[in-house]
Amino acid sequence: MPLTLLRYGLRPRHVSFRDIPPTPELKRGYDVVIIGGGGHGLAAAYYLGKAHGIRNVAVLEKGYLAGGNTARNTTTIRSNYLTEESIRFYKEGVGLFATMSDDLGFNIMFSQRGQLTLAHSEGALRSFHLRAEMGKHMGTRTEVVDAKTVRDLCPHVNLDLGGLHEVTGGLWHADGGTARHDAVAWGYAKRAAELGVEIHQRTEVTGFRKAGDRVTHVVTGRGEIAAGQVLQAVGGLNGQVAEMAGFRLPIRCFPLQAMVTQPLKPFLDILLSSADLHTYLVQSSRGEIVIGGGSDPYQLASTRSTLDQKEHLAEGALHLFPFLHQVKLLRQWTGITDMTPDYSPIMGASPLQNYWLDCGWGTWGFKATPVAGKRMAEAVATGRVPDLLRPFDLRRFDRFALVNEMGATAASH
Ligand SMILES: Cc1cc2nc3c(=O)[nH]c(=O)nc-3n(C[C@H](O)[C@H](O)[C@H](O)COP(=O)(O)OP(=O)(O)OC[C@H]3O[C@@H](n4cnc5c(N)ncnc54)[C@H](O)[C@@H]3O)c2cc1C
Repeated sequence: MPLTLLRYGLRPRHVSFRDIPPTPELKRGYDVVIIGGGGHGLAAAYYLGKAHGIRNVAVLEKGYLAGGNTARNTTTIRSNYLTEESIRFYKEGVGLFATMSDDLGFNIMFSQRGQLTLAHSEGALRSFHLRAEMGKHMGTRTEVVDAKTVRDLCPHVNLDLGGLHEVTGGLWHADGGTARHDAVAWGYAKRAAELGVEIHQRTEVTGFRKAGDRVTHVVTGRGEIAAGQVLQAVGGLNGQVAEMAGFRLPIRCFPLQAMVTQPLKPFLDILLSSADLHTYLVQSSRGEIVIGGGSDPYQLASTRSTLDQKEHLAEGALHLFPFLHQVKLLRQWTGITDMTPDYSPIMGASPLQNYWLDCGWGTWGFKATPVAGKRMAEAVATGRVPDLLRPFDLRRFDRFALVNEMGATAASH
């Protein structure tokens, strides 16, 4: 990679290039229509072409690529969940992130720097022991550490927090990491387009034509197209699009905010999170401190940011690193998250025969981009839901077979 860059830099003339071709005319129909040009839709399109040779595929995106939650997220990647089903799934995702730059020939800047969740009470430490044991059992690097090790891992953190939330230890997850969200989306888009997948930006899906329990046509703002199979991956709008298709999902929308400071010299080389303070921090490759927390406590489909949440996140960050008190904030932003009752996604079949779901990604779906894309492509291509995805079936809510990850999702995403 650096040699290619050097050669490019020394070239007398620079030929302009496009990562993806301009939006083409819509064809009359496609074998697979993917609704949503976020990371999940694009990854599924790539794996359909690459792994299954299905290339007559259209990705329909109402705005611009990755303009939904994909480019609004704070890029926590981890597999230290609570249930066996989740750990197995997210562990495969972390593995795919580790090889993604090589697989795509596109630098997604994966940095496996480890994630530390702080405990501020004996009760929190006890619950971390359960997650650590589950993690070890499933082959991930997850362990409980004491306050001294917290200090070694993160020398600048304030351990007593003014006596308010003294740090008693933490959950250290060496597999945790981060990557560039827009690079992930564009890497998949570029390689999918090279395989023949058509990417249609500014193409909103507004309805469906059906025959019995099959979708025959997808209606868009640019006309109607026939579809062999349909995959829905529309982030915060999953509930609405499912209603257009004629069924309801157990999804509610909550705003989730984050913000970023001016760039600072490197001082935080892990992902740091505190569930008690509802705050987490990560230093980006530009030196900015990305600060996030929990969802807003009310249902709303709005991307407006609030002063309340800015103050809350600043308070949490200052408890952990008081020396940040004069640092300036550069930006604050919001995404609409599609939350399920058990804080786990919905993947697999829908009530319609040829209509597939990749939704309910709430506050935690970036880390699943490659694994959801790969496994959903397998489901669409073969008509058989892979074992890895079966626990996340929509019908689990009828069977009361929830995959409860509320405690392990909290403010770490
Ligand atoms: C502030 C914030 C922080 C987060 N932090 C993390 C984190 O640290 N780690 C983590 O794993 N996850 C995190 N998440 C969650 C993560 O961002 C999402 O779960 C993930 O990006 C979902 O990807 P997606 O491709 O399914 O959806 P999106 O990226 O939202 O893409 C869906 C696309 O569908 C398009 N669309 C919608 N309706 C239509 C229609 N009718 N027709 C055509 N197109 C349509 C939208 O325009 C959008 O581009 C965070 C989210 C937010 C908001």
